[in-house]
Amino acid sequence: MADPLVTRRGTLPVPTFLPDATRAGVRGVTSADLRGVGVEAVVVNAFHLLRRPGARVIQGGGGIHAFMDWEGPVLSDSGGFQVWSLIRQDPARGVIRDREVIFRDPATGEKWILTPERVIQLQFQLGSDIAVCLDDCTDADSPAGEQERSVERTVAWARRSREEFDRLAGQLRAGQEPPRLFAVVQGGGEERLRRECATALAGIGFDGYGFGGWPFAADGALLSDPLRWVAESLPASAPRHALGIGRPDHLVSAFALGYSLFDCALPTRDARHGRLYTFRPGYPQRGLRPGASFFRAIHILDARYRVDHAPLEEGCDCPACARSSRAYLHHLFKVGDASAERLATLHNLRFYTRLIAALRA
Ligand SMILES: [Zn+2]
Repeated sequence: MADPLVTRRGTLPVPTFLPDATRAGVRGVTSADLRGVGVEAVVVNAFHLLRRPGARVIQGGGGIHAFMDWEGPVLSDSGGFQVWSLIRQDPARGVIRDREVIFRDPATGEKWILTPERVIQLQFQLGSDIAVCLDDCTDADSPAGEQERSVERTVAWARRSREEFDRLAGQLRAGQEPPRLFAVVQGGGEERLRRECATALAGIGFDGYGFGGWPFAADGALLSDPLRWVAESLPASAPRHALGIGRPDHLVSAFALGYSLFDCALPTRDARHGRLYTFRPGYPQRGLRPGASFFRAIHILDARYRVDHAPLEEGCDCPACARSSRAYLHHLFKVGDASAERLATLHNLRFYTRLIAALRA
């Protein structure tokens, strides 16, 4: 198992799950709420924060921690994946070249130029504790030539990111600790490319490595082989981040493959739609192993919960389970009360912190 991750904002035990506070907040809840359900670290998205409110605004507010009232570690994702998926949906939004990524917002006409260097500078401005290199994403089923180019570009960009990071770290005042720097492994579904990319990045040297690209097959199954090739090709003790992998069973499978950091928008997005995760009887105490059917999702809007006065989940100590019944949550969702989303979000995040505690045990 990987060692705890030491950051300038304290030591982060692993495995850990980082909720997506994409735009410097988890929708509907406060940072105090997050602490209350045991969240230890969050992920923000550098690209989204560059668009709004802008890095200068956050820097002017004392950095990301002061800005969002969060004192724990913050990992800033580069936004490479988001830029790629937006451009893929609509090529008019921009272009990805060897030198840079150009992104246009069709709604406002604004244009952003992202280079590997600029993305590192941006993360220094935000003041995040774990920075991530810009990478060049592909689909798992993109043609071989495209995968090859993505790996070349990702490695070249990681090298440029490392150089810019070292330059900026060298300018810090005495006693000021630099953030950690993670690189992202590409290579689609091709074993040779995945292993080559992981080995090349490890050769440059980073504090941790993310598994990049779309990690699911067309039927939604986790792509275990590519995850394993990458995990095997990285230095034994290096933290491995399974980017965007967060369905409870997927998380447990990726953990078994050697991954120890997880982030995903799924639990908070599902919560806002009334989809609440609960452990099946006996779990998580029985131990969480890949393939075990250890959880189920409750759809709190189902009619049967209208008169169900039991707590949402026995054994959960979140604010929703401690003080309200399924019938009350069902009612809050039905009438569109904002507290429904807040309570549901806190329950799902508590499910994840309990799941992580069980994996650590
Ligand atoms: Zn709960």
